[in-house]
Amino acid sequence: MKTETKCLHAGYEPKNGEPREVPIYQSTTFKYDSSLQMGRLFDLEDSGYFYSRLQNPTNDIVASKIAALEGGIAAMLTSSGQAANFFAVFNICEAGDHLIASSAIYGGTYNLFGVTMKKMGIDCTFVDPEISAEDLQKEFKPNTKCVFGETITNPTVRIFDIEKFAKVAHANGVPLIIDNTFATPIMCQPIQWGADIVTHSTTKYMDGHASCVGGAIVDSGNFNWLEHADKYPGLTTPDESYHGIVYAEKFGKLAYITKATSQLMRDLGSIQAPQNAYYLNLGLESLAVRMKAHCANALAVAKYLEANEDVAWVKYADLESDPHHELAKKYCPNGTCGVLSFGLKADRDQTEKFMDSLKLASIVTHVADAKTCLLHPASHTHRQMSEEQLKEAGVAPDLIRFSVGLEDAQDIIDDLQQALDAMKA
Ligand SMILES: *Cc1c(COP(=O)(O)O)cnc(C)c1O
Repeated sequence: MKTETKCLHAGYEPKNGEPREVPIYQSTTFKYDSSLQMGRLFDLEDSGYFYSRLQNPTNDIVASKIAALEGGIAAMLTSSGQAANFFAVFNICEAGDHLIASSAIYGGTYNLFGVTMKKMGIDCTFVDPEISAEDLQKEFKPNTKCVFGETITNPTVRIFDIEKFAKVAHANGVPLIIDNTFATPIMCQPIQWGADIVTHSTTKYMDGHASCVGGAIVDSGNFNWLEHADKYPGLTTPDESYHGIVYAEKFGKLAYITKATSQLMRDLGSIQAPQNAYYLNLGLESLAVRMKAHCANALAVAKYLEANEDVAWVKYADLESDPHHELAKKYCPNGTCGVLSFGLKADRDQTEKFMDSLKLASIVTHVADAKTCLLHPASHTHRQMSEEQLKEAGVAPDLIRFSVGLEDAQDIIDDLQQALDAMKA
């Protein structure tokens, strides 16, 4: 199946007389005929559902659609993108371990790695995504367990050189985790470029309509945990909480997702509600159609902004003038996403006046959605960061993150124009 077809059909094949739409299994629990059958589930001897804190059939259908879209072999849904990134890393890192992350990542992930996981004894080194392979190599330590980056960075919309990072990560025997939220598997499939694990905030384009917070983790199945057994004892030595099973031996390529489900979900409980998974699936059905429309609209808006004398700068990698255009052509040959960023030739007060004057585009925390919206990261999502950290993350104080929706492109441009006029009035 091609991507467009997978969006509609992957993950669920109803049999004769079964519902055409993905059923919502609104049940916390599942019935078994014998005590033995139930016991075998708890020993991970049989696979099956027993309690929705760990797994639910609706979620699994939707997760397997996302796995198919990303070209992975297994996936799981989580309650949020934050939970997805936390689980993705925590599944292979424990106290005393270290990871390397791009500094140009979503503010929430930056805090998760730099503050909260630090308290758990997991240390993170942030590196400039433009770092050379040689300098990146110097950041590895004996306890480094993974490398993390975002395909298209939120909010700076730079393109991450996945292949460069994958090569160095693999040379050091660790997996590369890529947050593919902005590109979605429609515009970029990181696994093709060497990513081992892919994460998503499904809250964004995948849901696409600002209705449900959610996340997903996809495993490529390509990383050989047993080959690096000393680094990943959680996957390669007995799990005492499951009678001593060794995930990498018992589950092979499914080890990573099985461990995250049966251990992290069991203990930390961040499952996505099946009802939300159902809404997510509706979003996924039109994902390919929407992404192409988002990209076309964003390019039109970017061109308008680039030509506007009140605009100081525009970043959108689909613009030929953008320094990341070559990277974009490589990783996202059919377009990047609908999000762009720009700064105005204006001071802070004027910028605020511009934002407040927009009528169609709304000021919201959200991004990557059907309706055009915008945000000023320095005073909103990234306000916990110091000037220094903002600079490291590449977030200019005047940066406006503009998420181009599916409205008529000319309507969006007209709205921008009247707000620029109002700003100067
Ligand atoms: C929003 C976002 C997250 C966090 O996801 P939530 O669903 O809000 O928890 C993580 N990564 C990126 C790139 C995001 O845009």
